[in-house]
Amino acid sequence: MRAMLLDESGRPLRAADVPEPEAGPGELLIRVHACGVCRTDLHLRDGEIPAGHLPLVLGHQIVGTDESGRRVGVPWLAWTDGTCAYCRSGRENLCERARFTGSDVDGGYAEYAVADERFCFPLPGDLPDDQLAPLLCAGLIGYRSLRFAGDAERLGLYGFGASAHIICQVAVHQGRRVFAFTRPEDTGAQALALSLGAEWAGDSLAPGPEPLDAAIIFAPAGALVPAALRATAPGGTVVCAGIHMSDIPSFAYADLWHERVLRSVANLTRRDAEEFLALAPRVPVRTTVQRFALEDAEEALTRLRDGRIEGAAVLEIAAA
Ligand SMILES: [Zn+2]
Ligand SMILES: [Zn+2]
Repeated sequence: MRAMLLDESGRPLRAADVPEPEAGPGELLIRVHACGVCRTDLHLRDGEIPAGHLPLVLGHQIVGTDESGRRVGVPWLAWTDGTCAYCRSGRENLCERARFTGSDVDGGYAEYAVADERFCFPLPGDLPDDQLAPLLCAGLIGYRSLRFAGDAERLGLYGFGASAHIICQVAVHQGRRVFAFTRPEDTGAQALALSLGAEWAGDSLAPGPEPLDAAIIFAPAGALVPAALRATAPGGTVVCAGIHMSDIPSFAYADLWHERVLRSVANLTRRDAEEFLALAPRVPVRTTVQRFALEDAEEALTRLRDGRIEGAAVLEIAAA
């Protein structure tokens, strides 16, 4: 099968012909139709987080069909032990032995992938494969982050890429007011935010037009943390949604004081996926996607690194 391989972090992906993977007991062999390109893939490609093995097939937002023709989605969480203290307390996202798709387990930048059936999800019927793919990480992690924003009415989204453009729609559907914070020159992302129901879009390093009740930081820039704390009202929460971020500059205790909460979000639970995939069609979430051929995965990652993707990048691998 055709696959894009990461041979070594820091090096471009390489197109290769490799044997089709074989499904073991309890696993599905999936013909990949589309695979979303996540910022985590870029962090793995660039060596900012370590790959589970090399050579590696990236990609953890897989939409495909199993051998019975059923359409399934494969997310980042590939396997958990089910027995550790985290698994037993409803926090399998923190499982001590968790394995992740497109890092520990080969992912969806290929014509076929194998996944543990217990971590695959049926997908809502009416959306095309390429529009569904970004729901599987950008949507899921965004949704988990939104849950930690509690009942915040005034919600700030920092970095308006794949995740934020999905979560903006969910938040507006829930009756929240959304404020989009981007690099000041990123007028494309600001226009996308306003078109999706955000009431304001502007510079991420300056305060918004009014204080926020919660903020979610999707961009991997540590400098946004003190900026978001300063933009947040007393008692508000700042959620860091990414797997990697540049160092956070020191900031005055006054920026955190008044019971502001700063927290991160890691991975997902299967419950997050079930809830979000049921909610998305009711919003309904419509993803803006930029499509790439499998062989152009490196180009998609380059554009993501450069901030030149509007919405979400998706690899189109097989026709449905
Ligand atoms: Zn566990
Ligand atoms: Zn991801």
